Order: sequence, then structure tokens, then C-alpha cells
Amino acid sequence: MDFNQLGLLSPLLRALREEGYSTPTPIQEQAIPPVLHGRDLLGCAQTGTGKTAAFALPILQRLQENPVKNGGIRALVLTPTRELALQIYESFCAYGRHVRQRCCVIYGGVSQKPQTDALRRGVDILVATPGRLNDLIGQGYIDLGKIEVFVLDEADRMLDMGFIHDVKRVIAKLPQRRQTLLFSATMPGEIAKLVDTILHDPVTVKV
Ligand code: AMP
Repeated sequence: MDFNQLGLLSPLLRALREEGYSTPTPIQEQAIPPVLHGRDLLGCAQTGTGKTAAFALPILQRLQENPVKNGGIRALVLTPTRELALQIYESFCAYGRHVRQRCCVIYGGVSQKPQTDALRRGVDILVATPGRLNDLIGQGYIDLGKIEVFVLDEADRMLDMGFIHDVKRVIAKLPQRRQTLLFSATMPGEIAKLVDTILHDPVTVKV
């Protein structure tokens, strides 16, 4: 199997070649085709499996293939920590370097000014931690009403870190009609319940 067989656009394949990736990892091989088709996904995978590219590539492709005029934020990735948020943001920048999608990252513990400045300039893909996202929604800087794809990354860690209520507050603000991708290494009861309520007929990939 190689990346050419997954149905990806040439500007994405070119970025992958430049990154030095020659073959997809198992989660990429199994998740990219159904996610490109618009299916919801339950990914049982840890960091290090290549899961970031498994969601970032189809998101970049979907947005690139379906341009909208003067819209708001179209894809939201929620992740529990600043480190993960930065890594995911850098991955979107790397894989998306030959397409025209603007990515922005927001997290707590730092001044919000550079983040709100970036949001004002226009964003297609937002990577966020839950606390700062809710803060900026509350202050009117972010509207989630145009989200087409929502990724909940490391759902079990969100629970462990006490972020589950923040996550649910975010989910309540998303449009009902959207694609949802949820990643979790383990499946505690609370996350299994969330899976049942927010995923519709998902494809499950375990690696
Ligand atoms: P992740 O699990 O998304 O955090 O990815 C783990 C690491 O694997 C990252 O450093 C990626 O750059 C790298 N990686 C992801 N997919 C591939 C691939 N298909 N080939 C080689 N390296 C990859």
C-alpha cells in the first residue's frame, strides 16, 4: 500500500513526499478512505501511530475540494494539552503547505492577544485546548456555527484531566450536521457514552 492508493489530492501527496513519508501507517491506511467519504470515525489509537495525519489529510482535502465564500471556521480539533495542540498545528502546516487552508492554534497559559489577532485574520482549521476555546467563545471571538468537521483527540485523557465538561460545552455549540472523528486509546464508560451520542454510524479503527 502507498499513499497514492488512498485517494488523496496531488498537493497533499507532494507534501507527504517532502516530509519523507513513503507508506501510510495502519491507522492512516484504514481511516483515510472512509473519512474522505464523509464517514464518522472512532479511532482507538495512541500518539505515535500516525493518527494526526489520519485526520489532518482528509480534513485538508475536504476543505480544499469544497471551497466556501467568506465562511467561518470549518474544522475544529480539540486536544487536551498545549504540546499536543502545537504538534497537531505543525502537522496541518506541514501537510497543508501546498493547499490554501489557514490553520490557527489556541491554548491557555499564554496571552490571548496573538491568538485573537490570528482569529480575526480568518481561519479555516482551528486546533484548540478546551479551556481557552471556551474562554474565547465566551468573549465572542469564536463562532462554531460553521463547523463541518469536528475532531475530539485523546478523549480518554480529556476525561482524566477533568476537561469533560468543557468538552461537552463545546460540543453543544457545534452544528448537528457535521462529520465527527473521535480518538481515544482506552474506552472508559463516560467516553463510550459520548461515542454513542456524538458519532453517527462510525467506522471503527483499532490499531
Ligand atoms: P502521531 O501519532 O500523529 O503523533 O505521529 C507520530 C509521528 O510519526 C510523527 O512524528 C509523524 O511525523 C510521523 N509519521 C506519521 N505518519 C507517518 C508515515 N506515514 N510515515 C512516516 N512517519 C510518519
